Amino acid sequence: METIVYCGNQHCGIVLKEPVDISEEKRQPCPECGSLSRAKNLKLSDETTVKDFIDIKKKSEEPHKFPSRKKQRVHLQQGDQINHETGKWISKVWRVDKDISPAWYTEILIDTETGKIIKHVEEPLDQHQGHGSDKKK
Ligand SMILES: [Zn+2]
Repeated sequence: METIVYCGNQHCGIVLKEPVDISEEKRQPCPECGSLSRAKNLKLSDETTVKDFIDIKKKSEEPHKFPSRKKQRVHLQQGDQINHETGKWISKVWRVDKDISPAWYTEILIDTETGKIIKHVEEPLDQHQGHGSDKKK
């Protein structure tokens, strides 16, 4: 089993020689684009379909402008995930973007097998009640 670490910047995405479990604070900026976002690709074996999942968090470049819990401006999760209820693979896009006005919430779930859209939510963040896709009811 092998985990490859990529630059999380979608426009860059180079492979980085960086320990997988390094903490966010200790990361070195990507030598290509300076991004601190990371994407990981777990390679189980050559037989197994490789599933990508990225989790990108963008913090404010002007941290003093926001209290610490509001520093995070953009949170994007995108990739393939096992749906715990059905045990099936789903493609997921989950994004909270506070850098645009109004702040925007996007959630798209697609059945990887059939390509059918399971869920598609696009709405201003302040109209979205359940923050986080994994919030239980
Ligand atoms: Zn990069």
